[in-house]
Amino acid sequence: MRILLVEDDLPLARALHQSLRSEGFTANHVADAKSAMLTVTTNECDMLILDLGLPDMDGLTLLKQIRKNNNTLPVLILTARDSIEDKIKGLDQGADDYLSKPFDVNELIARLRVIERRLGTATSSTITIGNVCLNSASHQLSVAGQEVELSRKEFMLLKVLLEQAGRIQSREQLESKLYEWGEEVASNAVEVHIHHLRKKLPKAFIKTIRGVGYSVKAATSIES
Ligand code: CA
Repeated sequence: MRILLVEDDLPLARALHQSLRSEGFTANHVADAKSAMLTVTTNECDMLILDLGLPDMDGLTLLKQIRKNNNTLPVLILTARDSIEDKIKGLDQGADDYLSKPFDVNELIARLRVIERRLGTATSSTITIGNVCLNSASHQLSVAGQEVELSRKEFMLLKVLLEQAGRIQSREQLESKLYEWGEEVASNAVEVHIHHLRKKLPKAFIKTIRGVGYSVKAATSIES
């Protein structure tokens, strides 16, 4: 699930962004309403974390505009305004949940998980193909019942391949996924990580389609 964090307090945004990523969420950050609107209208996010005090527009006004065209996008409001009236106003204008600053990041993650479960897109699911089983919440991989250690990047690449099983992922697509997750990517990084991944997986689990990319055969069952 791709989360868009709209927050102009940069130190807070950086810390949140980091926490979201380490919880396995794909997160993007923008610091003003205009950029948020652009990202939402181009359908580049599945959930919004919205600060109300933005430099170019009040967050509630932004929410109202978003709701004109998108009634289903889950929105969690973050704000220093903690009066009851503000909460009611936010929920009236279509927010799904509300957190008053300062808040505990674990509380935020817990609320996001609730929204995620409601959406049925929980990343806490386990993807199983053959005897390969990846838990995308705990980042645990087991192969034939044995636990296998993965680096962060290996986990991310394997997750994409499993989620897109049966489809070919080009090196560029995988590279851009790593960028999206905020990873530094060297020019041959994908090849290197795939090489390491292969040693940890059953033989021929990841296929190379020469000159095109990589794929994993589709025999997926996803359990929440
Ligand atoms: Ca603010």
